[in-house]
Amino acid sequence: MANSYRICVMPGDGIGREVTDCARRVLDSLSAGGGPSFTWEEQPAGHGTFLETSHSLPGATLDTARAADAVLLGAMDVEQIPPHGGDPLGGVRKGLEVGASVRPSRAVAGVDSPSADIDCVVVREVTEGMYARIEHMAGDDAACAVRLVTREASLRCARIAFAQAAARRDARAADGKPTRVTAVHKVGVLKLTDGLFLEACRAVADDHPDIEYETANVDACAMEMVRDPGRFDVILATNAFGDILSDIAAGLATGLGLAASACIGERWAYFEPVHGTAPDIAGKGIANPSATILTAAMMLQHLGESDAAARVERAVYGVIEAGDVLTADLGGSATSAAMTDAVIAAM
Ligand code: ATP
Repeated sequence: MANSYRICVMPGDGIGREVTDCARRVLDSLSAGGGPSFTWEEQPAGHGTFLETSHSLPGATLDTARAADAVLLGAMDVEQIPPHGGDPLGGVRKGLEVGASVRPSRAVAGVDSPSADIDCVVVREVTEGMYARIEHMAGDDAACAVRLVTREASLRCARIAFAQAAARRDARAADGKPTRVTAVHKVGVLKLTDGLFLEACRAVADDHPDIEYETANVDACAMEMVRDPGRFDVILATNAFGDILSDIAAGLATGLGLAASACIGERWAYFEPVHGTAPDIAGKGIANPSATILTAAMMLQHLGESDAAARVERAVYGVIEAGDVLTADLGGSATSAAMTDAVIAAM
């Protein structure tokens, strides 16, 4: 019998609801073909929720997320939320104890992209590093940020990176590509923090002798990604370096319109498209649902539903390559609903 899953959905703000509704329709269509089925538990979070309740992440939302098999997020307008309204994304990350963000980037037939060869995943630590939010003023004219790196968080992130590499191995081997993890650092300058980070990466690499392991200075890595993007497989980085490198990778591939992402921990995981709330097009029904549908495919993969994930991905890429039913950002004039119908038909 096909598996059934409880999914907590946080549509969030702006186009978040529109695109998560599209992804839900695609996943619901899987059961008709004997695939998995889903119970959706919708929960409030984000700026709209703050305006209504004065909390941007109600406790019940987090409880439902923890009890679910996986969590699908739309987009949240976090910049509009004042400090006393909380940090809903940070709250979800902390509450679900996620250790790394996983962002795949690959070229897609039918979409103009600067690189036809790119096919990499950036795995980025998301709880500390330069974004630990530890800042203080040192007198009136100087400000300080603490770059926090712990062995525990680095090991957790490195394990997720090597697990990603192992999961990609068969597909890459079929294309004649090596399985490789590149740990990114600036250890010549950040001797202690990146020294510790690299020690942790090396320890996990030693447990995976079958996966190629290398290190690269962040500046050299950025240049090499632009010059020869096809040589990268899994890029493993601390928070701020990974934030920047994952945008370079997305830019070399399809741009943000198709970019999917996951945040993974040892017990829980959540999945969200990389794009934001797109207030300029919210409510018009014209947002490109592809990034969220591909994000939902990552969620299927994480749940162990590899066949269903591959079906969804193939359908999205097929619709884009055919080019008949595309939203405006991809050069067409279709609505989000029409593009979603085309994906469902292609499955
Ligand atoms: P936020 O502050 O939530 O990040 P933003 O407008 O700064 O919002 P995005 O939401 O990523 O950042 O939007 C950047 C641009 O990309 C906007 O012009 C938006 O309309 C467009 N865009 C983002 N996502 C989509 C999508 N799914 N489909 C079509 N256009 C999109």
